[in-house]
Amino acid sequence: LKVRGTNLLGMQGARIGAVVVFTDVSRLRRLESLRSDFVANVSHELKTPITSIKGFIETLLDGAINDPEEADRFLRIVAKHADRLNAIIDDLLTLSRLEQGDKEEMDLQKVGLAGLMNSAVEVCTHRASKKNITISTECPDHLSVFVNPPLIEQALINLISNAVKYSAENKDVAVCASAVDDGVLLSVKDSGYGIASEHLERLFERFYRIDKGRSRQEGGTGLGLAIVKHIAQAHGGAVSVESIFGKGSTFSILIPSEK
Ligand code: ADP
Repeated sequence: LKVRGTNLLGMQGARIGAVVVFTDVSRLRRLESLRSDFVANVSHELKTPITSIKGFIETLLDGAINDPEEADRFLRIVAKHADRLNAIIDDLLTLSRLEQGDKEEMDLQKVGLAGLMNSAVEVCTHRASKKNITISTECPDHLSVFVNPPLIEQALINLISNAVKYSAENKDVAVCASAVDDGVLLSVKDSGYGIASEHLERLFERFYRIDKGRSRQEGGTGLGLAIVKHIAQAHGGAVSVESIFGKGSTFSILIPSEK
């Protein structure tokens, strides 16, 4: 709490009162500390691939470059880490754009959900087929929503690609849309690894990952769910998750109907 006081003087310069201002700075402090945590996290996330890239380049310069097979293998690893850096930066830019834009400015359009769902699924099928995972969709005929189409498609892609990433082979994924009382509910259901309940609350925080190694292995940035949450909120909606560890998870986005 910050307290500032000053005397109130009358026309003749006599003191006729005083003003005391109390400012609650705890919110500001909290925001500042959130911001510096975020900067520390971003720096760490960016440093990890850079350290690997440097390491492999040094090994190449130390002689590995003369062995064509080794050189090829190391350069591919370097390229993979560079892709990761790119993915992190793309996600950070998406997040920052979402934070800056407000609801009024968003370009909202009425679109059919079936088409939106299918194009999101299409982006993920290649990856899914590598694990023999089929992605099914279910959407009532002519169900439409008033949304920013590329953003909702992005949110669906993030959820579907997570469902694929965090499932074992042969476990199918279902994407469903349904009309509910207050809007439209989009859900992505997997029969994957599932999430223990103690993690559920923090899952949508930036860079929160249950198994860092697995996320990195899968090319994750740790920002996918934070982006989904922001996209839902930008539409006045919300995200939710239900999961049973070892059984699978369902992530849902509620898009409220226009009021
Ligand atoms: P990442 O890039 O690591 O996938 P996300 O923000 O998309 O980042 O997800 C955060 C974490 O939540 C993941 O690292 C993973 O541990 C967990 N997670 C997300 N989706 C699922 C899912 N469908 N099944 C199990 N765990 C999941």
